[in-house]
Amino acid sequence: MTRIRDLSITRKLMWMNMLVSGAALLLATGAFLGYARVVYRQSMVRYLTMRARVVGANCISAVLFDDPKGAGDTISALRADEHIVGAWIYTPQGEPFAGYWRDGGGSAPRMPTLPKGKTETYWFVNDQLVLIRAIAFQGKSTAFVYFQSDLNELREHQARYLEIGALVLLASLLTAFLVSRVVGRFVARPMRALFDTARAVSRDQDFSIRAATTDSKDEIGVLMRAFNEMLAKIQERDDTVRKSSASLAEKVQELARSNADLEQFAYIASHDLQEPLRTVASFAQLLQRRYKGKLDSNADEFIHYMVDGASRMQGLINDLLAFSRVGSRGKEFAPTDFAIIVGLALSNLHTAIAESRAEVTHDPLPTVNCDGAQLTQVFQNLVGNGLKFHNSQAPRVHIGATKKDSEWVFSVKDNGIGIDPQFNQRIFEVFQRLHTRKEYPGSGIGLSITKKIVERHGGRIWVESQPGQGANFLFTLPA
Ligand code: ADP
Repeated sequence: MTRIRDLSITRKLMWMNMLVSGAALLLATGAFLGYARVVYRQSMVRYLTMRARVVGANCISAVLFDDPKGAGDTISALRADEHIVGAWIYTPQGEPFAGYWRDGGGSAPRMPTLPKGKTETYWFVNDQLVLIRAIAFQGKSTAFVYFQSDLNELREHQARYLEIGALVLLASLLTAFLVSRVVGRFVARPMRALFDTARAVSRDQDFSIRAATTDSKDEIGVLMRAFNEMLAKIQERDDTVRKSSASLAEKVQELARSNADLEQFAYIASHDLQEPLRTVASFAQLLQRRYKGKLDSNADEFIHYMVDGASRMQGLINDLLAFSRVGSRGKEFAPTDFAIIVGLALSNLHTAIAESRAEVTHDPLPTVNCDGAQLTQVFQNLVGNGLKFHNSQAPRVHIGATKKDSEWVFSVKDNGIGIDPQFNQRIFEVFQRLHTRKEYPGSGIGLSITKKIVERHGGRIWVESQPGQGANFLFTLPA
């Protein structure tokens, strides 16, 4: 069975209307029947009183002259009244004088006494009305009239009222049913429209749909307009988000394009610069070899600067080429054992390690999906820096590896000169160095290449350090 709360609003309205009008009508019928019963009983009493007076007046001489037959004749006239069940005349001593029972037999009922000072009394018993009245002659009670009447008329009336009540109830239920169907349409149709709209919106995620509004000022009208406003707001927000994410996506695309352009430019520029530079460098060297000591001393010095400058420029161009090749010449990723990667990096650095009497240690190392050659380069750069930027103490470098959530965090920690945190970003830029080449040799390309490799692998790199307290370079790779 459908529960009431699951019924549609139209149904609920209909049931409500019918129940309310049904209940109102039942109450009204009940009240009316009660009222009719009281009124009827009162009018019955009045009627019997009136008849008792008339009969009493007509019988008084028969009683006075002791003529029961005459009294009997008078009282028999009452037989015409179908509701009077019995009618009797009593002497003042309470003896039955004359009378009859409608159904024939039976003796007269015992005459009950009237309450003191009263000329009449009545009561209802077994759906019958009993009335006794004293008949006075010259101020004295000369006879008593006893009437017993059924209340069949009342019952007939009540039955008729009930029939009429039932008919009216049926008619009003039908009217309530029809009215609620019509009114329900006014209420339920907009609700239904709202419901359909809400369902369509949530099903299709289409916030451009609107509920058909009415200009009614009732709650439903207000609700529909509020609902449409809410949809408009969601749509607006949606559009903003879509637009901004589109322009974000465009920005990312643009960035990738300009990065690619820059790489291309760096590659072509450095590649094409190499050729003329090689000519300059080799003729400068030729000049140095052939004419050393043959020109004046200034000339020797100038030629030295020329050779030195040319070879430095070749170095810079090679660095730029290496940098631009990180993106363009990278290999596909494959699961690679980092023990092998670190082993290779350390063997490339073995001279520097031996010369600086460094101690290089590492944690157990995992196998990670990567471009092995590039990761070898990363460790070579980071460990190489750890060996290079040391103070009076012999360098100690430790390579750590820990897994955090879905990534590996690698660290290369040394006991060297450390870095002022204000340069934490700058050192990762191309050719940015914190020292002269006399203090510590190098070109400032190592960390920028390292960063580019890490980012190509979807990782991040950063440094944690304080001046004089060693540096810890950390980078992540997706596990
Ligand atoms: P390079 O080593 O050729 O100078 P890098 O790009 O590797 O170039 O490093 C950039 C700068 O970052 C270095 O010049 C140095 O000032 C600083 N640096 C890098 N590694 C360390 C380190 N382990 N300790 C202190 N400073 C460092």
